[in-house]
Amino acid sequence: LFMVTPFVPLQHQVAGHNGSMQSVDGSLFCKAAKHREIKFYNDSHGKMMDPSDSLALGSLLIDWMPVYLGTLDPGLSDELSSKKSDIVDGNQNTLGKVGQNETFLVLENVLYGYRKPNIMDIKLGNILYDETADKAKVERMKEVSRSTTSGSLSFRICGVQISDDFHGELPASIENCKMEDVCHRKPDGYLTFDKRFGRSLTETSVRDALRLFFRGNCLAKVIQDKIVDNFVIRLQTLYNCLLDTEVRIISGSLLFVLEDDEQRWKDMEYEDPVLEERLIDDSDDEEEEEEEGGGGSIISSSLSCLKFIDFAHARYTPGEGYDEGLIKGVENLLKLMADI
Ligand code: ADP
Ligand code: MN
Repeated sequence: LFMVTPFVPLQHQVAGHNGSMQSVDGSLFCKAAKHREIKFYNDSHGKMMDPSDSLALGSLLIDWMPVYLGTLDPGLSDELSSKKSDIVDGNQNTLGKVGQNETFLVLENVLYGYRKPNIMDIKLGNILYDETADKAKVERMKEVSRSTTSGSLSFRICGVQISDDFHGELPASIENCKMEDVCHRKPDGYLTFDKRFGRSLTETSVRDALRLFFRGNCLAKVIQDKIVDNFVIRLQTLYNCLLDTEVRIISGSLLFVLEDDEQRWKDMEYEDPVLEERLIDDSDDEEEEEEEGGGGSIISSSLSCLKFIDFAHARYTPGEGYDEGLIKGVENLLKLMADI
Protein backbone atom coordinates (compact mmCIF):
# COMPACT_ATOMS: atom_id res chain seq x y z
CA LEU A 1 0.00 0.00 0.00
CA PHE A 2 2.71 2.41 1.00
CA MET A 3 4.70 1.65 -2.12
CA VAL A 4 1.86 2.28 -4.50
CA THR A 5 0.29 5.16 -2.64
CA PRO A 6 2.30 8.31 -2.13
CA PHE A 7 1.33 10.28 0.94
CA VAL A 8 1.30 14.05 1.26
CA PRO A 9 0.63 16.32 4.24
CA LEU A 10 -2.96 16.30 5.47
CA GLN A 11 -5.02 19.05 3.85
CA HIS A 12 -7.41 19.75 6.71
CA GLN A 13 -6.45 19.17 10.31
CA VAL A 14 -8.14 20.91 13.22
CA ALA A 15 -6.26 19.54 16.22
CA GLY A 16 -3.58 17.13 17.34
CA HIS A 17 0.04 16.58 16.42
CA ASN A 18 1.59 17.67 13.17
CA GLY A 19 2.75 15.15 10.64
CA SER A 20 -0.48 13.41 9.70
CA MET A 21 -0.80 12.62 6.02
CA GLN A 22 -3.27 11.72 3.33
CA SER A 23 -2.98 9.80 0.10
CA VAL A 24 -2.64 11.93 -3.02
CA ASP A 25 -6.21 11.15 -4.07
CA GLY A 26 -7.37 12.15 -0.59
CA SER A 27 -9.12 8.90 0.27
CA LEU A 28 -6.70 7.70 2.96
CA PHE A 29 -5.59 9.24 6.24
CA CYS A 30 -2.33 8.19 7.81
CA LYS A 31 -0.73 9.03 11.15
CA ALA A 32 2.12 7.74 13.25
CA ALA A 33 0.59 5.62 16.00
CA LYS A 34 1.68 3.83 19.12
CA HIS A 35 0.96 0.22 19.92
CA ARG A 36 -2.03 1.05 22.11
CA GLU A 37 -3.97 2.83 19.40
CA ILE A 38 -3.29 0.12 16.82
CA LYS A 39 -4.32 -2.52 19.33
CA PHE A 40 -7.53 -0.63 19.97
CA TYR A 41 -8.38 -0.64 16.27
CA ASN A 42 -7.60 -4.33 16.05
CA ASP A 43 -9.63 -5.12 19.17
CA SER A 44 -12.54 -3.08 17.87
CA HIS A 45 -12.42 -4.99 14.61
CA GLY A 46 -12.39 -8.26 16.50
CA LYS A 47 -15.66 -7.32 18.16
CA MET A 48 -17.22 -6.75 14.80
CA MET A 49 -16.56 -10.39 13.90
CA ASP A 50 -18.57 -11.56 16.91
CA PRO A 51 -21.68 -13.68 16.30
CA SER A 52 -23.70 -10.66 17.42
CA ASP A 53 -23.50 -9.59 13.82
CA SER A 54 -27.14 -8.67 13.52
CA LEU A 55 -26.70 -5.65 15.78
CA ALA A 56 -28.08 -2.41 14.45
CA LEU A 57 -25.60 -0.07 12.83
CA GLY A 58 -24.25 2.27 15.48
CA SER A 59 -24.36 -0.17 18.39
CA LEU A 60 -20.68 -1.02 18.19
CA LEU A 61 -17.92 1.48 18.70
CA ILE A 62 -16.37 0.44 15.40
CA ASP A 63 -19.45 1.81 13.62
CA TRP A 64 -18.30 5.24 14.80
CA MET A 65 -14.63 4.84 14.01
CA PRO A 66 -13.04 5.68 10.66
CA VAL A 67 -12.65 2.59 8.48
CA TYR A 68 -9.42 0.91 9.54
CA LEU A 69 -7.32 -0.20 6.59
CA GLY A 70 -4.22 -1.42 8.39
CA THR A 71 -0.76 -0.37 9.43
CA LEU A 72 2.48 0.41 7.68
CA ASP A 73 5.95 -0.22 9.02
CA PRO A 74 8.43 1.69 6.88
CA GLY A 75 11.26 0.39 9.02
CA LEU A 76 10.49 -3.28 8.56
CA SER A 77 11.26 -3.68 4.92
CA ASP A 78 14.52 -2.71 3.25
CA GLU A 79 12.75 -2.44 -0.01
CA LEU A 80 10.31 0.01 1.51
CA SER A 81 13.07 2.03 3.13
CA SER A 82 14.89 2.41 -0.13
CA LYS A 83 11.71 3.70 -1.68
CA LYS A 84 11.28 6.20 1.07
CA SER A 85 12.32 9.11 -1.09
CA ASP A 86 9.61 8.25 -3.61
CA ILE A 87 7.02 8.02 -0.89
CA VAL A 88 7.99 11.32 0.56
CA ASP A 89 6.91 12.91 -2.68
CA GLY A 90 9.10 15.92 -2.28
CA ASN A 91 8.00 16.58 1.25
CA GLN A 92 10.95 15.67 3.42
CA ASN A 93 9.42 17.26 6.46
CA THR A 94 6.54 14.89 6.69
CA LEU A 95 8.34 11.61 6.56
CA GLY A 96 11.79 12.94 7.22
CA LYS A 97 11.02 13.24 10.90
CA VAL A 98 9.64 9.77 11.09
CA GLY A 99 11.84 7.20 12.73
CA GLN A 100 12.35 3.78 11.24
CA ASN A 101 10.59 2.20 14.18
CA GLU A 102 7.44 4.20 13.80
CA THR A 103 4.27 2.41 12.78
CA PHE A 104 1.58 4.19 10.80
CA LEU A 105 -2.10 3.76 11.13
CA VAL A 106 -3.96 3.92 7.83
CA LEU A 107 -7.58 4.96 8.03
CA GLU A 108 -10.26 6.18 5.73
CA ASN A 109 -9.96 9.95 5.34
CA VAL A 110 -13.36 10.93 6.67
CA LEU A 111 -13.26 14.17 4.67
CA TYR A 112 -12.98 12.35 1.36
CA GLY A 113 -15.72 13.44 -1.01
CA TYR A 114 -16.36 16.74 0.77
CA ARG A 115 -15.97 19.89 -1.29
CA LYS A 116 -16.04 22.37 1.57
CA PRO A 117 -15.69 20.54 4.85
CA ASN A 118 -16.35 22.42 8.07
CA ILE A 119 -14.78 20.48 10.92
CA MET A 120 -14.86 20.44 14.71
CA ASP A 121 -12.81 18.28 17.08
CA ILE A 122 -14.29 17.81 20.56
CA LYS A 123 -12.31 15.94 23.17
CA LEU A 124 -14.44 13.86 25.50
CA GLY A 125 -13.88 13.13 29.17
CA ASN A 126 -12.78 14.99 32.27
CA ILE A 127 -9.70 12.94 33.09
CA LEU A 128 -6.97 13.75 30.59
CA TYR A 129 -4.10 11.48 31.67
CA ASP A 130 -3.66 7.76 31.95
CA GLU A 131 -1.39 5.54 34.03
CA THR A 132 1.49 6.01 31.59
CA ALA A 133 1.70 9.77 32.26
CA ASP A 134 4.57 11.04 34.39
CA LYS A 135 4.00 13.25 37.40
CA ALA A 136 4.49 16.48 35.51
CA LYS A 137 1.98 15.49 32.83
CA VAL A 138 -0.58 14.42 35.44
CA GLU A 139 -0.33 17.84 37.09
CA ARG A 140 -0.52 19.65 33.76
CA MET A 141 -3.54 17.67 32.60
CA LYS A 142 -5.34 18.10 35.91
CA GLU A 143 -4.93 21.83 35.52
CA VAL A 144 -6.23 21.77 31.92
CA SER A 145 -9.28 19.87 33.08
CA ARG A 146 -9.85 22.09 36.09
CA SER A 147 -9.67 25.31 34.10
CA THR A 148 -11.73 24.31 31.04
CA THR A 149 -15.04 22.72 30.10
CA SER A 150 -13.24 19.37 30.19
CA GLY A 151 -13.72 19.54 33.95
CA SER A 152 -17.16 21.15 34.06
CA LEU A 153 -18.84 19.49 31.06
CA SER A 154 -16.61 16.52 30.32
CA PHE A 155 -15.99 17.76 26.82
CA ARG A 156 -13.85 20.48 25.31
CA ILE A 157 -13.63 21.95 21.82
CA CYS A 158 -10.07 21.36 20.62
CA GLY A 159 -10.26 22.84 17.17
CA VAL A 160 -12.70 24.20 14.62
CA GLN A 161 -12.44 25.02 10.94
CA ILE A 162 -15.16 26.83 9.04
CA SER A 163 -15.21 28.34 5.59
CA ASP A 164 -14.77 32.10 5.92
CA ASP A 165 -17.55 33.05 3.50
CA PHE A 166 -20.38 32.18 5.87
CA HIS A 167 -23.53 34.27 6.26
CA GLY A 168 -23.27 36.64 9.15
CA GLU A 169 -20.27 37.92 10.98
CA LEU A 170 -17.69 36.50 13.24
CA PRO A 171 -18.27 37.87 16.74
CA ALA A 172 -15.38 40.04 17.95
CA SER A 173 -15.24 37.91 21.04
CA ILE A 174 -17.00 35.05 22.72
CA GLU A 175 -17.15 35.91 26.38
CA ASN A 176 -13.58 36.72 27.36
CA CYS A 177 -12.00 35.24 24.30
CA LYS A 178 -10.97 37.72 21.60
CA MET A 179 -11.33 36.19 18.16
CA GLU A 180 -8.26 38.02 16.83
CA ASP A 181 -6.14 36.06 19.31
CA VAL A 182 -7.40 32.57 18.54
CA CYS A 183 -8.84 32.67 15.04
CA HIS A 184 -6.64 32.44 11.98
CA ARG A 185 -7.53 32.98 8.35
CA LYS A 186 -5.91 30.39 6.13
CA PRO A 187 -4.99 31.14 2.51
CA ASP A 188 -7.38 28.42 1.31
CA GLY A 189 -10.41 30.32 2.58
CA TYR A 190 -10.94 28.74 5.96
CA LEU A 191 -11.04 30.19 9.42
CA THR A 192 -9.43 28.01 12.04
CA PHE A 193 -9.83 28.30 15.76
CA ASP A 194 -6.90 26.93 17.70
CA LYS A 195 -6.85 25.06 20.97
CA ARG A 196 -6.68 28.28 23.02
CA PHE A 197 -10.16 29.06 21.69
CA GLY A 198 -11.63 25.89 23.16
CA ARG A 199 -9.68 26.27 26.37
CA SER A 200 -11.01 29.77 26.98
CA LEU A 201 -14.65 28.75 26.65
CA THR A 202 -16.88 28.40 29.68
CA GLU A 203 -20.01 26.39 30.38
CA THR A 204 -21.99 29.34 29.02
CA SER A 205 -19.91 30.47 26.08
CA VAL A 206 -19.27 27.00 24.72
CA ARG A 207 -22.84 27.15 23.44
CA ASP A 208 -21.94 30.14 21.27
CA ALA A 209 -18.97 28.24 19.90
CA LEU A 210 -21.16 25.27 19.02
CA ARG A 211 -23.61 27.64 17.38
CA LEU A 212 -20.78 29.14 15.36
CA PHE A 213 -19.93 25.70 14.02
CA PHE A 214 -23.48 24.61 13.19
CA ARG A 215 -24.80 27.96 11.98
CA GLY A 216 -21.66 29.65 10.67
CA ASN A 217 -21.88 28.39 7.10
CA CYS A 218 -23.39 29.16 3.70
CA LEU A 219 -26.23 26.66 3.92
CA ALA A 220 -29.95 27.44 3.93
CA LYS A 221 -31.54 27.36 7.36
CA VAL A 222 -33.55 24.23 6.55
CA ILE A 223 -30.35 22.37 5.75
CA GLN A 224 -28.69 23.64 8.92
CA ASP A 225 -31.71 22.44 10.91
CA LYS A 226 -31.48 19.07 9.27
CA ILE A 227 -27.78 18.83 10.11
CA VAL A 228 -28.38 19.70 13.76
CA ASP A 229 -31.21 17.15 13.98
CA ASN A 230 -29.00 14.55 12.40
CA PHE A 231 -26.14 15.17 14.82
CA VAL A 232 -28.55 14.94 17.74
CA ILE A 233 -29.69 11.51 16.53
CA ARG A 234 -26.07 10.49 16.05
CA LEU A 235 -25.12 11.62 19.53
CA GLN A 236 -28.08 9.79 21.05
CA THR A 237 -27.20 6.62 19.17
CA LEU A 238 -23.55 6.92 20.16
CA TYR A 239 -24.63 7.52 23.75
CA ASN A 240 -26.47 4.20 23.79
CA CYS A 241 -23.49 2.50 22.22
CA LEU A 242 -21.16 3.92 24.87
CA LEU A 243 -23.43 2.74 27.68
CA ASP A 244 -22.94 -0.80 26.39
CA THR A 245 -19.22 -0.53 25.75
CA GLU A 246 -16.70 -1.40 28.45
CA VAL A 247 -13.81 0.88 27.61
CA ARG A 248 -11.63 3.58 29.05
CA ILE A 249 -10.88 6.19 26.41
CA ILE A 250 -8.70 9.06 27.55
CA SER A 251 -8.31 12.03 25.22
CA GLY A 252 -10.48 10.55 22.51
CA SER A 253 -12.28 13.00 20.23
CA LEU A 254 -15.51 13.36 18.38
CA LEU A 255 -14.94 14.69 14.90
CA PHE A 256 -17.89 16.61 13.46
CA VAL A 257 -17.85 17.21 9.72
CA LEU A 258 -20.40 19.02 7.59
CA GLU A 259 -20.50 19.83 3.90
CA ASP A 260 -20.66 23.60 3.45
CA ASP A 261 -21.18 23.41 -0.32
CA GLU A 262 -24.87 23.72 -1.01
CA GLN A 263 -24.48 22.52 -4.59
CA ARG A 264 -23.30 19.17 -3.26
CA TRP A 265 -26.41 18.96 -1.08
CA LYS A 266 -28.47 19.48 -4.24
CA ASP A 267 -26.45 16.89 -6.16
CA MET A 268 -27.08 14.36 -3.38
CA GLU A 269 -30.77 15.29 -3.25
CA TYR A 270 -30.36 16.36 0.38
CA GLU A 271 -29.94 12.73 1.45
CA ASP A 272 -27.69 12.61 4.48
CA PRO A 273 -27.60 9.22 6.18
CA VAL A 274 -27.34 9.22 9.97
CA LEU A 275 -24.69 6.55 9.68
CA GLU A 276 -23.08 5.12 6.60
CA GLU A 277 -23.00 1.39 6.08
CA ARG A 278 -19.44 0.22 6.61
CA LEU A 279 -17.75 -0.19 3.29
CA ILE A 280 -15.97 -3.47 3.56
CA ASP A 281 -14.09 -4.84 0.58
CA ASP A 282 -16.72 -7.04 -0.97
CA SER A 283 -14.51 -8.79 -3.51
CA ASP A 284 -16.87 -11.77 -3.93
CA ASP A 285 -19.38 -9.56 -5.55
CA GLU A 286 -17.57 -8.86 -8.80
CA GLU A 287 -20.59 -7.58 -10.65
CA GLU A 288 -21.48 -5.04 -8.10
CA GLU A 289 -17.90 -3.94 -7.94
CA GLU A 290 -17.83 -3.24 -11.60
CA GLU A 291 -21.03 -1.30 -11.41
CA GLU A 292 -19.73 0.82 -8.59
CA GLY A 293 -16.48 1.14 -10.47
CA GLY A 294 -14.30 0.73 -7.39
CA GLY A 295 -12.48 -2.39 -6.26
CA GLY A 296 -13.35 -2.18 -2.61
CA SER A 297 -12.28 1.42 -2.39
CA ILE A 298 -13.96 3.93 -0.16
CA ILE A 299 -16.94 5.73 -1.59
CA SER A 300 -18.19 8.53 0.58
CA SER A 301 -21.63 9.88 0.06
CA SER A 302 -22.32 11.58 3.34
CA LEU A 303 -22.97 15.29 3.70
CA SER A 304 -22.20 15.35 7.40
CA CYS A 305 -20.75 12.82 9.77
CA LEU A 306 -19.76 12.13 13.34
CA LYS A 307 -16.67 10.02 14.02
CA PHE A 308 -14.94 8.90 17.17
CA ILE A 309 -11.17 9.29 16.71
CA ASP A 310 -7.88 9.26 18.60
CA PHE A 311 -7.42 6.09 20.60
CA ALA A 312 -3.84 6.71 21.69
CA HIS A 313 -4.98 6.21 25.31
CA ALA A 314 -7.83 3.80 24.86
CA ARG A 315 -8.40 0.21 25.89
CA TYR A 316 -11.21 -2.27 26.34
CA THR A 317 -11.90 -2.99 30.00
CA PRO A 318 -14.20 -6.03 30.20
CA GLY A 319 -16.18 -6.19 33.42
CA GLU A 320 -15.55 -2.56 34.35
CA GLY A 321 -18.68 -1.02 32.85
CA TYR A 322 -18.97 2.06 30.72
CA ASP A 323 -16.68 5.08 30.69
CA GLU A 324 -18.36 7.72 32.79
CA GLY A 325 -16.37 10.61 31.35
CA LEU A 326 -17.52 9.82 27.81
CA ILE A 327 -21.13 9.43 28.90
CA LYS A 328 -21.18 12.73 30.75
CA GLY A 329 -19.56 14.51 27.83
CA VAL A 330 -22.08 13.27 25.28
CA GLU A 331 -24.94 13.98 27.71
CA ASN A 332 -23.83 17.60 28.13
CA LEU A 333 -23.27 18.03 24.42
CA LEU A 334 -26.80 16.83 23.78
CA LYS A 335 -28.19 19.28 26.32
CA LEU A 336 -26.40 22.17 24.64
CA MET A 337 -27.37 21.03 21.15
CA ALA A 338 -31.00 21.57 22.09
CA ASP A 339 -30.36 25.33 21.96
CA ILE A 340 -28.54 25.41 18.66
P1 ADP B 1 -3.50 13.20 17.60
O1 ADP B 1 -3.07 11.97 18.30
O2 ADP B 1 -2.37 13.94 16.98
O3 ADP B 1 -4.38 14.07 18.45
P2 ADP B 1 -5.92 12.52 16.10
O4 ADP B 1 -6.20 11.10 15.77
O5 ADP B 1 -6.70 13.13 17.20
O6 ADP B 1 -4.34 12.68 16.34
O7 ADP B 1 -6.12 13.39 14.78
C1 ADP B 1 -5.76 14.75 14.75
C2 ADP B 1 -6.56 15.50 13.71
O8 ADP B 1 -6.41 14.86 12.44
C3 ADP B 1 -8.06 15.53 13.95
O9 ADP B 1 -8.43 16.63 14.77
C4 ADP B 1 -8.61 15.65 12.55
O10 ADP B 1 -8.58 17.00 12.11
C5 ADP B 1 -7.64 14.85 11.73
N1 ADP B 1 -8.06 13.44 11.54
C6 ADP B 1 -7.90 12.42 12.41
N2 ADP B 1 -8.37 11.26 11.91
C7 ADP B 1 -8.84 11.55 10.67
C8 ADP B 1 -9.43 10.77 9.63
N3 ADP B 1 -9.63 9.45 9.75
N4 ADP B 1 -9.80 11.40 8.50
C9 ADP B 1 -9.59 12.74 8.36
N5 ADP B 1 -9.04 13.52 9.28
C10 ADP B 1 -8.65 12.95 10.44
MN1 MN C 1 -6.38 14.14 19.08
